[in-house]
Amino acid sequence: MAIQKIFLAGRWCEGRGEPMRSTFPADGSLNAELRAADVNDVNEAVEAAERAWRDPQWRGLVPHQRAAVLYRVSDLINQQLETLAQLQTRDNGKPLAETRGLVASAAATARYFAAACEVLEGELPTQRNSEVMTLSQYQPLGVIAAITPWNSPIASEMQKVAPALAAGNAVILKPAEATPLMALKLAELFEQAGLPAGLLSVLPGKGSVIGEALARHPLVKKISFTGGTGTGRHLAHIAAEKLIPTSLELGGKSPTIVLEDADLEQAARGICYGIFSSAGQACIAGSRLFVHRSLYQPLLARLCELAGGLRLGDPRQPGVHMGPLINDKHRQSVAAYVALARQEGGRVLIGGEAPADPQLADGSYYLPTIIDGLSNDARVCQEEIFGPVLVAMPFDDEQQLVAMANDSVYGLAAGIWSRDFPRAMALAEQLETGTVWVNTYKTFSISTPFGGVKQSGLGREKGLHGIKAYMQQKSLYLALTHQVNRWSD
Ligand code: ADP
Repeated sequence: MAIQKIFLAGRWCEGRGEPMRSTFPADGSLNAELRAADVNDVNEAVEAAERAWRDPQWRGLVPHQRAAVLYRVSDLINQQLETLAQLQTRDNGKPLAETRGLVASAAATARYFAAACEVLEGELPTQRNSEVMTLSQYQPLGVIAAITPWNSPIASEMQKVAPALAAGNAVILKPAEATPLMALKLAELFEQAGLPAGLLSVLPGKGSVIGEALARHPLVKKISFTGGTGTGRHLAHIAAEKLIPTSLELGGKSPTIVLEDADLEQAARGICYGIFSSAGQACIAGSRLFVHRSLYQPLLARLCELAGGLRLGDPRQPGVHMGPLINDKHRQSVAAYVALARQEGGRVLIGGEAPADPQLADGSYYLPTIIDGLSNDARVCQEEIFGPVLVAMPFDDEQQLVAMANDSVYGLAAGIWSRDFPRAMALAEQLETGTVWVNTYKTFSISTPFGGVKQSGLGREKGLHGIKAYMQQKSLYLALTHQVNRWSD
């Protein structure tokens, strides 16, 4: 098998770092062998990026010309939707139905930020009768480090690359160790779409080596990161030393809440999707369930029925709900949390082990698992498991519920199931999370900002604000009179 090249400042070449492999999580078969980037590659990419974003050939383009590249990328993605979805499924083991959605969303993200680039305007904040006219303008930051995780590569990568390029920056993308292929494919599409060399490099490699070198590079002017809270905090320290902005999309332990007036079937299906889709490997997974005591037993019974009906299997097969976890090490970590829940007195209502089916023996599959009998201070309610594990708790009183839901270091998302919309809105107001879904879960719109509070992150991606997050504001004052300043008389 030919060695997969990396994309370094417009050139396809072998990385100068150590050998790496991408494997298919469902059976461990090899997708590609490549060599990681090394620190020399990082330096070369960043220096080329610095020249590229300042180059008048790019910088001098009017916004709609820059946008044209993103429109072309969006079209290319849509034309190759199926191939790209297959590639992402091979890279991270998510079922095709999900990866098709992620690919379509990446195309939409590229189109949205192309449009945002075209309509982005400065402001004229001048007040009436002022002696000066002031202009507020937005300029690119320079070289952006985009560091991404393995769970939704194409979507999370486009969410960073598209607004950063639309804003006039250059981007160095460091994909997760486990999933380098989709980022490299994106580089191919941007190249095909006519993006000038140097504006995008894709450097696979270890976070602690390549990610770290990239974040620390003096010419890198923003770190845009999605991943674990520990890594995010570390990168925030680096950014603080350099005094550069960061955007951090981190972990979660999201509560879903079922009020006594909820539509039980709607809630059960939404909760099931919210925790078990992507086999729970989602920062927004609704992993803590709070149910009004009056509905607790029937809802859990229905949830167990739904979980028991989910099909685990080869993520390329139609009708499969859950593929394998990303690798065995991760499965062991999920299993260790379930063991801990049992030790802490939790009852495993369904799942709690790997499937017995011998056909699934080559992948790191784990059954959808529902646990009850624990309180919110149990470790499985406080720590992110990032797997198909739901912990359910009853509640009686709404104030007690709000306190429990907010009793978490995380604050990424929450779900509320209720037929009483004003009541749900009043509850949403009290939840300390960046997103609240009411009678739906894990639905997204590119025009709606996304991000966390507390240890779930800093900053917001998506929405019109998403492009300004990659720009710096500048004020200009223009005198409206010929008046001479007499101070020095
Ligand atoms: P996850 O738990 O999702 O794997 P990580 O935070 O470990 O989360 O990884 C997310 C991304 O951050 C990956 O691309 C990884 O290589 C990168 N990363 C990990 N450690 C560092 C680091 N010290 N500096 C920069 N990037 C890092």
